[in-house]
Amino acid sequence: MKIRKLETFTNDFVGFVRLTADDGAVGWGQLSTYNSDITASVFHRQIAPWALGRDATDLDALVNEIPEREHKFSCSYLYRAMSGLDTAIWDLRSKVEGKPVVELLGGTPGTIRAYASSMRRDITPEAEAERLLALRDRDGFDAFKFRIGSECGHDRDEWEGRTETIVPTIRKALGSDVALLVDANSCYSPRRAIEVGQMLEANGVEHFEEPCPYWEMEQTREVTQTLSLDVTGGEQDYDMQHWKRMIAMKAVDIIQPDVLYLGGMTRTMQVARMADAAGLPCTPHAANLGLVTLFTMHLLRAIPNAGKYLEFSIEGPDYYPWQEGLFVEDPYEVTGGKVTVTDRPGWGVEVSPEWLAKSRYQVSEVGG
Ligand SMILES: [Mg+2]
Repeated sequence: MKIRKLETFTNDFVGFVRLTADDGAVGWGQLSTYNSDITASVFHRQIAPWALGRDATDLDALVNEIPEREHKFSCSYLYRAMSGLDTAIWDLRSKVEGKPVVELLGGTPGTIRAYASSMRRDITPEAEAERLLALRDRDGFDAFKFRIGSECGHDRDEWEGRTETIVPTIRKALGSDVALLVDANSCYSPRRAIEVGQMLEANGVEHFEEPCPYWEMEQTREVTQTLSLDVTGGEQDYDMQHWKRMIAMKAVDIIQPDVLYLGGMTRTMQVARMADAAGLPCTPHAANLGLVTLFTMHLLRAIPNAGKYLEFSIEGPDYYPWQEGLFVEDPYEVTGGKVTVTDRPGWGVEVSPEWLAKSRYQVSEVGG
């Protein structure tokens, strides 16, 4: 089954890939979100030429070979683009076998506990507590993540006192039964991260994400070794050498690869296996309701070291308007705090024809 044609449908925020094999079989994947128009250019210039004419069943070889062929361009965009190829091939192969992707990965369809994940810092502690409470009551979530500090903030808070207020405010509003997670997005020095971490522990927070600049693995490890709550990270990392180092040195307690930043399912499975061998759970990063969350759902039902829950973005059209109208049927229904991986073949989702009609189209094909 040779890859004959690779098409992309993009806007600035999100892009889908349609792969057609020489026998007419089709698979759908997604490029990573944000600057997806640039990612699509990289896809057609630096990914498609190596994939066209190749056997779609030989995915491992392709995924290993492309970064070598493009070794002078090892950067996030290359892997964001390769994700489109990888995830389209998984869809194609699963549809050919008439199974959901999760089964090809070694798992089974079914439900997954999700945590409600806030993406906002421009929100007061009171307003954040109010909307998380409403989600608990409406959708049955029993785990919540909110943001503290400021992004790459050099110890500065979003505004003075926000972090010290939001943690107890949310704990008080939601009660002692729910799991609380926080994300510092690379804000703190180790000294400040440890101080904040002790306050988090006093409020029963169980997950402290990206406490220090993510590239400073020794700093993160110092925080991990000092605190008893779980320090987590890895969402930005696409380089396998970084992953090997992070896992070997136990920089974090829980790894958080992003399927689409990392280059697709094949590489994310490799990282999850590496972490499993080191005894580390995997709670991937999935920060929007494009396909990254669906890909992560299939992954979590298939790996032995799946973390306790799926990251599930709670942001709607006011914050992420680009997420609207992507799919014919919404794959993200939450019931009792859980989402479901169906037994439909492939990823089990169909991109909306109306959305595709409005997107920017590019094609690479054999002999084209
Ligand atoms: Mg994060």
